[in-house]
Amino acid sequence: MPGKKRKYVIIGAGVAGVAAALAIREQDGNASVTLVDEEADFPYYRFLLGDVILGTKDELGILIKGEDFFDEKGIRLRRGQKVLKLSVDGKYVFLSNNERLAYDAILISVGRREIIPAHLKKYSPWLSLFSSLEDTLKIKSLIPRAKRAVLRGKGFNALELARVLLRSGLEVALVTPDRRLNYPSLPEEENEQLRRLITDAGIILEEGEDINRIEKDGMDTYRVELLSGETMEAEIVFASGGFAPKVDFLHDSGVYLNQGVIVDDYMQSTSESVFAAGDCAEIYHPALKRYWVNLGYPNARTQGTVAGKNMAGELLIKLDIDKMKPYTIFGRELYARWWD
Ligand SMILES: Cc1cc2nc3c(=O)[nH]c(=O)nc-3n(C[C@H](O)[C@H](O)[C@H](O)COP(=O)(O)OP(=O)(O)OC[C@H]3O[C@@H](n4cnc5c(N)ncnc54)[C@H](O)[C@@H]3O)c2cc1C
Repeated sequence: MPGKKRKYVIIGAGVAGVAAALAIREQDGNASVTLVDEEADFPYYRFLLGDVILGTKDELGILIKGEDFFDEKGIRLRRGQKVLKLSVDGKYVFLSNNERLAYDAILISVGRREIIPAHLKKYSPWLSLFSSLEDTLKIKSLIPRAKRAVLRGKGFNALELARVLLRSGLEVALVTPDRRLNYPSLPEEENEQLRRLITDAGIILEEGEDINRIEKDGMDTYRVELLSGETMEAEIVFASGGFAPKVDFLHDSGVYLNQGVIVDDYMQSTSESVFAAGDCAEIYHPALKRYWVNLGYPNARTQGTVAGKNMAGELLIKLDIDKMKPYTIFGRELYARWWD
């Protein structure tokens, strides 16, 4: 219908979602663009959360865009509302406030969550997470009375937390069940360089170890026992067993999933009006010859822009993998490696 205002809904206002909203607005000045996010905060860069702990940035300093930006662009930002269900046939989403939101095209940009290892789930109330601003502020509040942190895991969340807690004056032990320090695994030579960076910085590295059990030892201290029987006292305990795209709400939706939402080079899912981008999207990896979830904020931004352009256009823009950028981990640039 000529002049009909198209409705775009974006689930998840992270780097990918915000980039997509802007790309849609640039293509279609008349469209209705709604960004829905379960977090109450304005959209922010997660890779800067460590700076919030260190106090080198405050909450405003990590925003992707200023608070007025979305109003100025005519992008409706709905914070603190979780999408519980997506109906591909009905073309609507169902929100946690019982509202139905209709769409013509939708982007899934819900990111990923940390997985707590199965054998440590029973200790969840005692474990710190490091994925959101809320998690970060909780960790920050523990620091003034903390002497030691035990972090179980690898990859940029665990390593970034190790770095900032060390710089905050804590003794930090990093427990890694295998001898690989990153996701995906680095070649042995690079892994060794990372190992040296970590130990030279003063982090106690417990490789080939795991947390066996945790006891609460007084008001604020935990007694952490490793498989070897060694015990450590700590005020901050973190345990990650990897990441999973936050796509559980899509299981009965008809959108085709593997680990994440399977998309093509246009960021389009197997359902025509559904697109996905960022840490929850799985894209064909030409070298691995299989689908792959590609982590990292530069990739999320590029994917969001490509998805937004395609949602509002005619599927002419393909993801250009050569333009994807490296990310920094423990002060060192690594490549998000789905193209090598
Ligand atoms: C501590 C930390 C350090 C990092 N360091 C680096 C780094 O150095 N380099 C790098 O490249 N990357 C880094 N990353 C990863 C980077 O932040 C992510 O790759 C990037 O944020 C992915 O963007 P995204 O838009 O796909 O997802 P996210 O930024 O995760 O955004 C997804 C949004 O979706 C919302 N959401 C989820 N489910 C729902 C739902 N059902 N309904 C409504 N809203 C929902 C979430 O609240 C969230 O706001 C780091 C991440 C963390 C946590």
